[in-house]
Amino acid sequence: MTKVKYLILGAGISGLSFANYLDSKDYIILEKENEPGGLCRTHKIDEYVWDYAGHFFHFKNEDSKNFFKPTLNNEKCVEQIKTTKIYFKNNYIDYPFQKNIHQLEKEDFIDCLYYLFFKNEKEDYSSFKDMLFGKFGKGICERFLIPYNEKLYACDLDYLDKDAMGRFFPYANIEDIIKNMKNKSNSSYNDTFIYPINGAQTVISYLMSKLEKSNVHLNEEVIDIDVTNKIVKTKNETYKFEYLINSIPFNIFNKLCNGEELELSWNRVLVFNIGFDLPAIDKTIHWIYFPEKEYNFYRVGFYNNILKKEKLSIYVEIGFNKDEPINIDEQYQKTLENLKKCGIIENHKVVAKESILMDPAYVHISNKSNEDVSKVIEKLSQNNVYTIGRYGSWTYSSMEDCYMQAKNLAYTIGKENI
Ligand SMILES: Cc1cc2nc3c(=O)[nH]c(=O)nc-3n(C[C@H](O)[C@H](O)[C@H](O)COP(=O)(O)OP(=O)(O)OC[C@H]3O[C@@H](n4cnc5c(N)ncnc54)[C@H](O)[C@@H]3O)c2cc1C
Repeated sequence: MTKVKYLILGAGISGLSFANYLDSKDYIILEKENEPGGLCRTHKIDEYVWDYAGHFFHFKNEDSKNFFKPTLNNEKCVEQIKTTKIYFKNNYIDYPFQKNIHQLEKEDFIDCLYYLFFKNEKEDYSSFKDMLFGKFGKGICERFLIPYNEKLYACDLDYLDKDAMGRFFPYANIEDIIKNMKNKSNSSYNDTFIYPINGAQTVISYLMSKLEKSNVHLNEEVIDIDVTNKIVKTKNETYKFEYLINSIPFNIFNKLCNGEELELSWNRVLVFNIGFDLPAIDKTIHWIYFPEKEYNFYRVGFYNNILKKEKLSIYVEIGFNKDEPINIDEQYQKTLENLKKCGIIENHKVVAKESILMDPAYVHISNKSNEDVSKVIEKLSQNNVYTIGRYGSWTYSSMEDCYMQAKNLAYTIGKENI
C-alpha cells in the first residue's frame, strides 16, 4: 500500500492546478488515461492542431492571467476580438440573437419585438425554459433560445435550473436590445479570447513542467474509494491518503465512494475536427451557432480563422443525451452534407479528420442536482475529501474557473496544516 498525504484524482486542469499550489511534495495524481490534460488535450494531425472542440481562454481574473502569462505570451498565442455569427434562415446575424433581432427579416423582427414587449415577466422562474420565456418572450425563444439550447443540452429545458448557465448566459433587457439597434455592443464574458498556437494543451504542459513527473501516475483508473478508512484502489495499487481531492466526474466519484447512483443527467458532445485542402470561404468568423434542427450540429468553429492559417480547419459540435445511441459515421456524413448546404464548404476535400466524444460535456444543472451534490460535498468534507472542477463539482465552469477553484482549495487546506 502506498501512503500519501494528498491523493488527487484526475490529471485535467483542476487536478494539476491543485498540485501546483501545494506546499508539499507529498502528493500523487491518479489519471486513467495514458496522458494528462483531460478535456484540455490537443491532437496534432498533419499540419492541424486540434482541441476537444475550441478551448479558448477568456480571463476575468488578473491572478490566473498572470499565472499562465509565461506560457501564454504573445509569441505562442493569438489574442482575438471575437467574431461570432448565428446561421438563421440562410442568413447570418450577430450573436447573441436576443440583441440582434433588428438584423432579422421584417416578419421575424416584428414577432420577436412584439413578444419581447408583451412577455410575461415573473418575480421568479421555475426552470431555464420558464426564465427564457419570461425574460425574452416567445418570438426570440422559439426562433433561437429554445431550439439552440435543446440541441446543445439534448434535454427538455424545463429540466434545467433557471441559472443553469450562470454567468455564461448573455442576458439583455429591452433597453439593451433597443440600444443595440443603433449602437452595437454585443459584449459578453468572452469578447476577447487568447488561444495558444499549439492548442489548449500548452497550459497542461506548463502545469506539468512545475510538478514532479513521478508523482503523476498515468493509466491508473480509480475503481474503489473507501472514504471512512481513507483508501483508494486502482487495478494496480492501493493508496492510503490523508486528503482526497477529486476532479473525476461527480456521478462516477459518488458511486465509487458509496455505491449510490444519484439522479444526475448530462449531455455528450460529439466533436469532428476536420481539415480541408482549400482555404475557408469566409476568413473572418471564429465560430457560428446553428439553432435550426435541420443542421445536426449546434456550433462550428474555425481554427484557421483564429490562427490566421490558409486552409480550412474546423471543429463541429453535436449534442446528445447521455443515453442516446450515436452512429458516428452517419453523423459525419450528415455533417459534410450540412456544411455544404450552409456554404461552409463547396469543392473542398477532406484531408484529415478525427472524432472525439466528450462524455460528460455539459452537465444538466437542476434544483435537485444542486441540492443532492451539495449535500454529498458537505458530508465528504468532514472526512477531508474534496471534489473540484467542472465535473467534480457538477457545474458549468471554464478552464480558468477550474484553476481558481483548485488554487483556492489548496490554500484553504494549506492553512489548516500550518
Ligand atoms: C464542448 C466544450 C467546450 C469548452 N470550451 C471551453 C473554452 O473555450 N474555454 C474554457 O475555458 N473552457 C471550455 N470548456 C470547459 C473546460 O473543458 C473545462 O472547464 C475543464 O477542462 C475541466 O477540467 P477538469 O480538470 O475539471 O476536468 P477534466 O478535464 O474532465 O479532467 C478530469 C480527469 O479525470 C480523469 N478521470 C476520469 N475518471 C477517472 C478515474 N476513474 N480514475 C482516474 N482518472 C479519471 C479524466 O481522464 C480526466 O483526465 C469547454 C467544455 C466543453 C464540454
